[in-house]
Amino acid sequence: MLSLKTSIIGKKVIYYQEISSTNDVAKSLDVEEGTVIVADRQTKGRGRLNRKWISPEGGLWLSVVLKPKVAPQDIPKIVFLGAIGVVRTLEELSIPGRIKWPNDVLVNFRKISGILTEKVGEKVILGIGINVNNNTPENGIAVKDVLGKEVSLVHVFKILLENLDELYEIYLKSPGTIVELARELMILNVPVKVLGNGEVVGIAEDIDEDGRLVLRLGNGEIRKIIYGDVSLRFL
Ligand code: ADP
Repeated sequence: MLSLKTSIIGKKVIYYQEISSTNDVAKSLDVEEGTVIVADRQTKGRGRLNRKWISPEGGLWLSVVLKPKVAPQDIPKIVFLGAIGVVRTLEELSIPGRIKWPNDVLVNFRKISGILTEKVGEKVILGIGINVNNNTPENGIAVKDVLGKEVSLVHVFKILLENLDELYEIYLKSPGTIVELARELMILNVPVKVLGNGEVVGIAEDIDEDGRLVLRLGNGEIRKIIYGDVSLRFL
């Protein structure tokens, strides 16, 4: 028994040993809000733009089904809710994580977690992958690498759901607070390259109240980048 102290998230948990992708299954199921799909391994784990997310056994791969009744412009903020939840969870394991705008959590500039949100009808799927006891690709890092020992996956799962539940309550009352909280945890004031429609180089100075990246270009001009099909690289 998980004995979760949550009010919405994790009311129902559906567990698979192996699945294509927890987001894909979450999208296809007709389930109540707060349902969590979790799997030991994903055979077709995805990042954004259909990039591959490597998800072997030992990691935490899950998706939460949300049905937020909020204004359309507040939906993209859910990715930050996920990232803050991961950082808070890592904190409870004494690991200092920071958010790389918009959807990754890094430790020592290596990716420990990725968030993938997708909207289908009234559902918003919050997909979260955390490298816990698994081996990672080259630029990744896992909890076990940082701590030098394996940790209980169920424990990490439980504290993550509790953190997400708390943040979801905040989000429903005040979506802007989630952006503020994310801002405090974000890696800023570093030179970056934004890849998407072309390539822009600048200093990632801030995020604005809608979660857009505020980029200062070499000529001093400010450009705001919308979280969409863009990727950020540190220089
Ligand atoms: P990006 O960081 O390029 O914007 P995504 O956020 O969509 O891309 O994440 C996908 C990328 O994450 C992959 O292209 C790969 O480089 C990396 N990756 C895949 N699996 C893992 C993993 N388990 N841990 C860390 N990084 C991973």
